[in-house]
Parts: sequence; structure tokens; C-alpha cells
Amino acid sequence: MTVSSTMQLRCELCQIEINENADQSDEVLFSRGATGSRSKLWARVCQYLKTDEQKAACINQDLSQRGVEMPGDRYEEIAPFEVGKAETES
Ligand SMILES: [Zn+2]
Repeated sequence: MTVSSTMQLRCELCQIEINENADQSDEVLFSRGATGSRSKLWARVCQYLKTDEQKAACINQDLSQRGVEMPGDRYEEIAPFEVGKAETES
């Protein structure tokens, strides 16, 4: 019997789909841009949920599943070392 190693979950609240992979880390399918990690989804969306009702409906509230937030998980901010280096050098 073959069981698919990937399960797709959908967070109705965040309007996002998560591929739960058995043998690698989960993949979040953002509506735009590249796929990311659960911690990225948390940093960008899920942490802003306010009510307990919302939190209960979100599938990405479990710290043990999403992991801690990593650098770069939030929306792109200009890192200090990148300032002044863009545009002019093309
Ligand atoms: Zn969510």
C-alpha cells in the first residue's frame, strides 16, 4: 500500500496552503512569490491573529510545528549591509 508522503493542508484564515512533507520540512505556498517555511508564514501572517477564535482556526499556531522565526522570514527589509549597494552598480 502506497501512501503519499505529501499532504496538503489549507489555512482558511490565512488563505494559504501548506504541503506537509513526511521526509522534509513543510512547504508553505504563498499566493505570490516563492514557497516558504511555516515559520515564514507565521512571521508574515499568523502571528497577527488577534482573537482566540482566529487562533483556533489557524493551522500554523503550533510552535513545535512552525519552529522559531528565522532571519528573512518577515517581509523583505533592507538589511544594514545592503544599504547603499543597490541600483548604482549595474
Ligand atoms: Zn494561519
